[in-house]
Amino acid sequence: MDYKARAKEITETLERYNYEYYVLDNPSVSDAEYDRLMQELILLEKEHPELVNPLSPTQRVGGKVQDEFKKVTHTRMMLSLANAFNEDDLRDFDRKVREITGLDKVTYMCELKIDGLGMSLVYNKNLIYAATRGDGSVGEDVTSNVVTIKSIPSHIDLEGDFEIRGEVFMPKKSLQNLNEIRQKTGEPLFANARNAAAGSIRQLDSSIAASRKLDAFWYYFVNAKDFNIRYHSEALNKADELGFKTNHERRLCIGIDKVLEYIDEYTEKRPNLEYDIDGIVIKVDDMNLYDKLGYTAKTPRWAIAYKFPPEEVITKLEDVIYTVGRTGKITPNAVLEPVRVAGSLVQRATLHNEDFMMEKGLMIGDYVVLRKAGDVIPEVVRPVVEKRTGLERPIHMITNCPVCGSPLIRKDAMHFCVNPHCEARQIEGIIHYASKDAMDIEGLGEKVAEQFFNQGFFKSIPEIYNLVNHREEIIALDGWKEKSIDNLLTAIEKSKSQSLERVLFGLGIKEVGAKMAKTLARKYLNIDALIATTEEELLEIDDVGPIVARSIVTFFQDENNINKINELKYAGVNFNYLGQTVQAANSYFSGKTVVLTGTLSSMGRKEATELLENLGAKVTGSVSKATDVVVAGVEAGSKLDKANALGITVLDEATFLSLIK
Ligand code: NAD
Repeated sequence: MDYKARAKEITETLERYNYEYYVLDNPSVSDAEYDRLMQELILLEKEHPELVNPLSPTQRVGGKVQDEFKKVTHTRMMLSLANAFNEDDLRDFDRKVREITGLDKVTYMCELKIDGLGMSLVYNKNLIYAATRGDGSVGEDVTSNVVTIKSIPSHIDLEGDFEIRGEVFMPKKSLQNLNEIRQKTGEPLFANARNAAAGSIRQLDSSIAASRKLDAFWYYFVNAKDFNIRYHSEALNKADELGFKTNHERRLCIGIDKVLEYIDEYTEKRPNLEYDIDGIVIKVDDMNLYDKLGYTAKTPRWAIAYKFPPEEVITKLEDVIYTVGRTGKITPNAVLEPVRVAGSLVQRATLHNEDFMMEKGLMIGDYVVLRKAGDVIPEVVRPVVEKRTGLERPIHMITNCPVCGSPLIRKDAMHFCVNPHCEARQIEGIIHYASKDAMDIEGLGEKVAEQFFNQGFFKSIPEIYNLVNHREEIIALDGWKEKSIDNLLTAIEKSKSQSLERVLFGLGIKEVGAKMAKTLARKYLNIDALIATTEEELLEIDDVGPIVARSIVTFFQDENNINKINELKYAGVNFNYLGQTVQAANSYFSGKTVVLTGTLSSMGRKEATELLENLGAKVTGSVSKATDVVVAGVEAGSKLDKANALGITVLDEATFLSLIK
């Protein structure tokens, strides 16, 4: 292939990867693979300058801006950073800085490169908006999601316009918890902390972002010069003073050798940090030098990002085994020759589905590239075709359930065991029912559920409530004492009075996650109303599409499921929604007719309407004598005037928020 064709091929591939990464928050290749291709293109463009054009991926800052969010034009471009992959690259960077500035030794600020999502906050005493980087010049206004991060101040003690940039990220622990839950609910796992953070910030429903336990570090005071600040280090201290969370692992290093020492130190400390970092950012500390050093189309010349070498290893794919989830979904898993990567021993990795295995062209006996970043699940990247001996065997997707033997059904890329009595599905179903977001039965985790199932103490969800009949047998088992079984029995008893949304989620209706369960519970208030509903009626609910509606109706048409619900009722499990009734009766808004006008900074109109309705209010579109309360956000217009003229109570956003709490 000639170099032009190769450049075109790489460009197209990188564009596709960019789309997957920045728009879908769901990359199909590792960052290392992406960076390798990018380096190849940079080299080609260096050798053949006629290839360079402003649309090349080497010249453009990543993301695209989606229509779902209001767009924000950044007052100053939000750039990316040039990359360094080794000592030579860093020394090269230092040499150029010294040449341009004429300095013998440069003072650099070394900071951890947080693996998250770049964010800009703009204040004028109060927070005005938070925006993503987008394509560098236009970003997305994600204020309502960003304000859910508790460490971000909503106002600051500083006169005038103020902009600060930083990184929103998901701590390792939050990512691990989130992925565990997603694994249980059958949702796709986040490949890394960055995608999880980006996926959370770009949710239209800010309660999702709020539940994701995000945090942020702030690393660039954009208009520091307006406040007579000369050094970046000084600017960060000022940000600290103003109440922003900055990262205190930073260090001023005089000369590039000290920078290299810092990098070595943090390469070692990296596994013990509470958040993922993918490199070290090195910035010239004296901001007076920035204009002199200048910018490329995509990056400043006064900073560089050193990227850690990818945590990839090669190991052998010994076999593929299949597991059955509670929805009957079959997952192929790679059995690997045990190998250490990113600080942990890996012997299994999910292969997702048949298409994934086929697209990668995997064979049993292959050496494969395995990648693991921090606490993220290990990923099989590709087979090392060069190492094949001819003894490898093709992988054939199974056609029957590995547990009950029923023929599998293929739906989209997935295979399912549709035998509702399949044991694997029963155990998984019980584990899910007892899980934290469902009935929250403390002590009934994976191991205990499996043990009791195998002992025959329960074979289905309703039988959990008969466990008390096996108390003596359990005490006789290894590892069980009176106290531990009694604690578990108490937790089981307590679960009977959970609100409807939890038991709905716990039943494991396909397509009904925790959030959907809540929506349904709020709308139907008890299970009988939901059982009696139709697809048409379900489709009237905003978040419900045809697939979800179909799945819910089908679930309740199955006699086995109705029997299960009746057994649970008989055991004393509550099937009423408890949230609203208690809350609504006490609410200021209960029984009031409310009109929303103007823009609220903390939530969208739809969300505010839903909240008010849940509190027992009637939300209408126009102000009249029948209106009790008007909630006025910014730029409220004629409705506000009318309310004032009629003497109707007007609440500003802050009062509204305090009343709905
Ligand atoms: P980058 O991640 O290489 O570095 C720039 C970013 O680092 C900044 O915009 C900022 O958000 C962040 N950052 C974190 N800590 C910082 C600190 N202390 N100071 C300054 N900045 C800090 O660049 P990018 O443009 O955000 O992303 C490009 C990279 O993303 C690629 O090199 C690749 O690794 C990855 N990527 C992967 C895929 C894929 O398909 N796997 C696709 C596109 C991009």
